Amino acid sequence: MTDDELNTDVYYDDDADRSKIDDKTVAVIGYGSQGHAHAQNLADSGVDVVVGLRESSSSRAAAEDDGLRVETPADAASEGDIVSILVPDTVQPAVFEDIRDELDEGDTLQFAHGFNIHYNQIRPPEHVDVTMVAPKSPGHLVRRNYEDDQGTPGLIAIYQDETGDAKAEALAYSHAIGCTRAGVIETTFQEEVETDLFGEQVVLCGGVTSLVKQGYETLVDAGYSPEMAYFECLNELKLIVDLMYEGGLGEMWNSVSDTAEYGGLTRGDRVVDEHARENMEEILEEVQDGTFAREWIAENQAGRPSYTQLKDREENHHVEQVGAPLRDLFAWADDEEEEEAAEAP
Ligand code: NAD
Ligand code: MG
Ligand code: MG
Ligand code: MG
Ligand code: MG
Repeated sequence: MTDDELNTDVYYDDDADRSKIDDKTVAVIGYGSQGHAHAQNLADSGVDVVVGLRESSSSRAAAEDDGLRVETPADAASEGDIVSILVPDTVQPAVFEDIRDELDEGDTLQFAHGFNIHYNQIRPPEHVDVTMVAPKSPGHLVRRNYEDDQGTPGLIAIYQDETGDAKAEALAYSHAIGCTRAGVIETTFQEEVETDLFGEQVVLCGGVTSLVKQGYETLVDAGYSPEMAYFECLNELKLIVDLMYEGGLGEMWNSVSDTAEYGGLTRGDRVVDEHARENMEEILEEVQDGTFAREWIAENQAGRPSYTQLKDREENHHVEQVGAPLRDLFAWADDEEEEEAAEAP
């Protein structure tokens, strides 16, 4: 497919003007998944980088070992023209309090996810630009792809454009971390947050795990062996998802047997039926009207009581007890894959 067939513009290396970032200092606050990747990619692209971490942070050693300069978040933000907030979303509001007074006229407050801006947990001053550059990948891949001269697709969004240069600078930042090599699309903070939360709750994390557990329990309760239920309802999911990732639903349907295809086409909508669709719409409303955000913020303020309980229940689900020894049994498959990858030219 060509870009002409897409509903949106895609920005590549040629669309980025690196002069918008090359003489600036980027303060990367946090050195976790995204932080280490942005900081190292920016630095390797020749941009001046300072990492902001608390005196007590265990990430300090890692950043220094990687050859980066480390300051406190406030000192880094003071030096930075662009302040990239890459600590976990739940701690961002507290970290913002430490750096707020260091933001000068025309600086940029930069995010990789829009939660705190969209739900007003961070209220940026009016004299700065507020942007998002969000790679669509975990940080270790953002780093690995960059080192392999590959790109990582990403999103940009502009929330506040005080200087009139916010988008050009976000594209230059995307270029420097390797995203415009693969393609960057523009969205809004609202759209990024609402689709991200909906996707992870309904399909990717919430929906899929519930489907796996309910399918597994149905087979086990009917007297089938837990090992068989584990393979059918969890393990084989990877093969199906890989096919959809490579070639959409069509490649998956073409690759499974006709029996599987007919059975799936006739039964799928009975499982995820109109009732499930109504629940999806309700969950989307909770994302849109801020109900979910308020619940999650309150849960964190209370020390995560429900979250801890739910995590515990999930860890102790029967499918987990059955799965661990089975995965050990099949660990050779992963080793072989790694060996193959290591041998590849
Ligand atoms: P992370 O959990 O990997 O960040 C951990 C780092 O944050 C630590 O190394 C430490 O340096 C710092 N940190 C932790 N607690 C802190 C505190 N109390 N005070 C100061 N610093 C603290 O975070 P992440 O997953 O890289 O997420 C960063 C941002 O990127 C978030 O907005 C997230 O939504 C977004 N994002 C993440 C991914 C991903 O795949 N991980 C993908 C796209 C966007
Ligand atoms: Mg500054
Ligand atoms: Mg997402
Ligand atoms: Mg998310
Ligand atoms: Mg089968």
